[in-house]
Amino acid sequence: MIKVNIATTKGFSTEELKKVHTAQNALNKILNNENFKDQVLYFTTDGLFRFHYRRTFLGKWIDRPHSNREVYEILTQGSASTGADVKQVDLHLEMLPGGDVEQLGYTNPDTQRIYTYRNWFNNLSLAGYTSHLAHEWCHQLGFSHASKPTEKTNHSVPFGIGNITEKIALYH
Ligand SMILES: [Zn+2]
Repeated sequence: MIKVNIATTKGFSTEELKKVHTAQNALNKILNNENFKDQVLYFTTDGLFRFHYRRTFLGKWIDRPHSNREVYEILTQGSASTGADVKQVDLHLEMLPGGDVEQLGYTNPDTQRIYTYRNWFNNLSLAGYTSHLAHEWCHQLGFSHASKPTEKTNHSVPFGIGNITEKIALYH
């Protein structure tokens, strides 16, 4: 069982925190959902059960490739155990003023803090924000994607998991 914990928040109004906590509950349900597990295990790229990992022109891996099961295990392992069979996912969230043309926010790999621009936060549906948290959380776990979108970007772990999360959030 996975438990999503909002460890710290910075810059959110009381009203905005309600959306944060609704998304937390949604993400909590999704990560414990069998449908989520199946969609991770059966995720395909080019007809193979795998996510897309990048290589350099010389063929060296930029992102270390994992099997779908390994990805699922990394995701559901969380950062610290809170007790028997409960894996806790600690999220540190910070609101940034204004907006950015291209990105909703980003993750600082050193502080593990997830930043979200306010303009995006206000325009995102609940499913969209929940998906954003899942995407950024994947970065926190060390998964990445090319900065310029390519046809494969949607098959990276952050976008793949974000899209699975959004789909489940929309239909539950
Ligand atoms: Zn990203």
